[in-house]
Amino acid sequence: MTDKKAEKIVAIKGMNDILPADAHLWEIFENTAQSILQSYGFQQIRTPIVEETRLFSRAIGAVTDIVEKEMYSFEDSMNGDKLTLRPEGTAGVVRAVLEHNLTYEGPKRLWYKGQMFRHEKPQRGRYRQFHQIGAEAVGFTGPDVDAELIMLCRRLWDDLGLQNIRLELNSIGDAEERARHRVDLIAYLEKHEDILDAEAKRRLHTNPLRILDTKNPAMQDMVNGAPKLLDYLGAESLAHFEGVQKILKHNNIPYTINTRLVRGIDYYNRTVFEWVTDQLGAQGTVCAGGRYDPLIEMFGGKPTPAVGFAMGVERLIELMRESGETAAPNQCDVYMVHQGEAAQLQSFVLAERLRDAGLDVMLHCATASGAGSFKSQMKKADASGAAFAIIIGEDEVANNTASVKALRGEEGEAQQTSVPFDGVVDHVVDQIVGDHDHDHDHVHYHH
Ligand code: ATP
Ligand code: MG
Repeated sequence: MTDKKAEKIVAIKGMNDILPADAHLWEIFENTAQSILQSYGFQQIRTPIVEETRLFSRAIGAVTDIVEKEMYSFEDSMNGDKLTLRPEGTAGVVRAVLEHNLTYEGPKRLWYKGQMFRHEKPQRGRYRQFHQIGAEAVGFTGPDVDAELIMLCRRLWDDLGLQNIRLELNSIGDAEERARHRVDLIAYLEKHEDILDAEAKRRLHTNPLRILDTKNPAMQDMVNGAPKLLDYLGAESLAHFEGVQKILKHNNIPYTINTRLVRGIDYYNRTVFEWVTDQLGAQGTVCAGGRYDPLIEMFGGKPTPAVGFAMGVERLIELMRESGETAAPNQCDVYMVHQGEAAQLQSFVLAERLRDAGLDVMLHCATASGAGSFKSQMKKADASGAAFAIIIGEDEVANNTASVKALRGEEGEAQQTSVPFDGVVDHVVDQIVGDHDHDHDHVHYHH
């Protein structure tokens, strides 16, 4: 041992821990999303976090933010392979669909969740490791599945009690329509070159469509007057776009058409949409999606239409917090308090039986300060949020009983009952189930 204290190692900038106090919010979000995805027939797929770099540069496109400057790429020190931490989920899912011929028997509805990595400037709502939950519907041609994905999102916001998330919709047509628009757009932007910022100038001949998406206030009037891609759409693209809108209207899903909405990734066509809120400052897009019919062919598969979305989980969790979803659930239903070795052994047996019955049980365990006095154990029981403390001391061991103490009664009426050891499970379950109807916030008995 040296005198010098070891230097503290901390997490990488922009990569956050999710602490226990927040974990319940994540659980609520993920469980709700998962059950809604299932209710629309989506199946989960899990792909690796690391893929070959060329998977992303091919799929996402060389002149996008992500590939130009945001990817965590490295060489495998064992064999020199060029690898990248996934910056998004679609490329990996599409690779897996082709690799395992998943659409062999017909179209597939898939969903995924997990970490994504982008080397961005960390700020509110923008991190270097962040989480997405996404869905990909592969093999469906029509506007119906586009509308279905949008309605799935709407249901999630409703189930989570999230208000103030609005839908913006656009169609970016097909490659030919975009090419015709691009000629006019570049000409227009060149006429206003004095207004373009450095980023826009850089994009003028590589990805001019993305300039329309600028957040620079000085460029807003100029981009508002730019030729609209929507005006360049042919009959088929327009019919598709109208098909989506017809279903949304019929189902009372409000939306606005944002003619400047594009996606930062090359593979999109036709329908694009974003769910946006004003409650999170500058990073207000909580979910973005669209059709990407050309992608699978670009990967060497036979032409297969597809559409999907990705949600930014951190942003949605923050929105849940803003809308008052804070109450952490209790850690357990029952806290086991015990004094002496015989009592400890009996507590272990009882705790297992309570868990068999579906209860969450925390058994007091020793710390550096020892086994803990009765008083200090009762304090821990209170702090745990348990509905009951079960107390086993020398008397209880001698009588083959346990003392069951309700921790959540009105002041003064906190009852303590002596229950024969064999009857404790039934007693506690009865009480908790009986309580459940009018006190379900405090008890998470889950049978
Ligand atoms: P932006 O224009 O904000 O950079 P993007 O076009 O790069 O967004 P997508 O690639 O479409 O975003 O990702 C879908 C969603 O994932 C976003 O709408 C957002 O909610 C979330 N997201 C993207 N990047 C980050 C990040 N660095 N940190 C947290 N969430 C993110
Ligand atoms: Mg981005």
